[in-house]
Amino acid sequence: MIDDEIKKNLSKCSRCALCVQNCPIYDITKNENNTARGLVCKLLGYQKGLLNEKEIRKDLKICLNCSKCLKNCPSGVDTTEIFAYKNAVLSPSKISQRLFLKLKLLPLKVLYFLNFFKNTNIKTKKKSIVYFKGCVAKAQHKKTFLDNLFYNPGFSCCALPYLAGGDIKNYEKAKNKNIELIKKSNCVVFDCATCKNCVSSYFGLEDENRDKLVFFVELLKNKKYKLKQTSKYIKKTVVFHKPCHLDKEDFNNIENFLKNIEGINYKRLNNIDSCCGFGGSYFIFHPIIALKIAFKKANTIKESKADLILTACPSCVLGIRTGQIFSFGLGKTLELRDFINNELIEV
Ligand code: SF4
Ligand code: SF4
Repeated sequence: MIDDEIKKNLSKCSRCALCVQNCPIYDITKNENNTARGLVCKLLGYQKGLLNEKEIRKDLKICLNCSKCLKNCPSGVDTTEIFAYKNAVLSPSKISQRLFLKLKLLPLKVLYFLNFFKNTNIKTKKKSIVYFKGCVAKAQHKKTFLDNLFYNPGFSCCALPYLAGGDIKNYEKAKNKNIELIKKSNCVVFDCATCKNCVSSYFGLEDENRDKLVFFVELLKNKKYKLKQTSKYIKKTVVFHKPCHLDKEDFNNIENFLKNIEGINYKRLNNIDSCCGFGGSYFIFHPIIALKIAFKKANTIKESKADLILTACPSCVLGIRTGQIFSFGLGKTLELRDFINNELIEV
């Protein structure tokens, strides 16, 4: 089943190269083997027996799984799912990714218990809509304000960390559990762009179920907010880092939402599509490339003179903070969900 899907997708590539100019790895390495077009060609060569596993593995491993190629592909080649899946199959993990994920999240849990993250007091839960809470949010917060608004039926991790780490068994387990829960729901709300993107691209998720997945800002579209009187961001410059995995439509909704907040000066960042370089555990395995990307992003943020950098993925928060440290950048980085919860009130 999976192999048939992969073959079908690979054959859709027209070699147009629109993915090349958008690939953050190509931007650093200038090596076309690292782009979607290069990887598709290599995988086709591998299928025909012209290339060996070792040659394929090396290039697949350098992919950041950012989905920029997928979003810019006119032929709809499901690049990132193929690359991640093939990488996982060809390089099965020798360590338990479940344990690895838990270890990665441990510092965030400690911060939570030290009370670095606030809870909310909003209580208007609707059980007809369900909340997909990401692993990092689970570790950071006992409750986000979305927990109080929507029912959480017990979704697993989006499974991207398993796939990226070569743990196909746990990837399939988490994916299948999530698909079953989505089928039973009317609408699934996400607060992490990467989780939403990963779940949307599950092989085996039908279009009718994919249509149920929404980013939470879509539900705030007709509401108006202003800064709390006590907020330290009154009249401050606020920018938004667009995660690579965020849909264009979700980005437009977020940008309109931010422009309409009374009391802040929202400014669009230059090179809005540039990556933060973090990509989950990518930073651990490819620190030089990741740092070069993060540094570029940090300089763009510095030029904007932002007091506050918002984003919609916890990995991006870490990527931006890392870039900020190395570039001596100023400005605080927060997740949009937490900014709304802690700094805004509905007008
Ligand atoms: S944009 Fe899509 S069709 Fe064009 S080369 Fe890249 S993967 Fe192939
Ligand atoms: S997923 Fe990102 S890093 Fe990987 S090939 Fe596509 S654009 Fe490049």
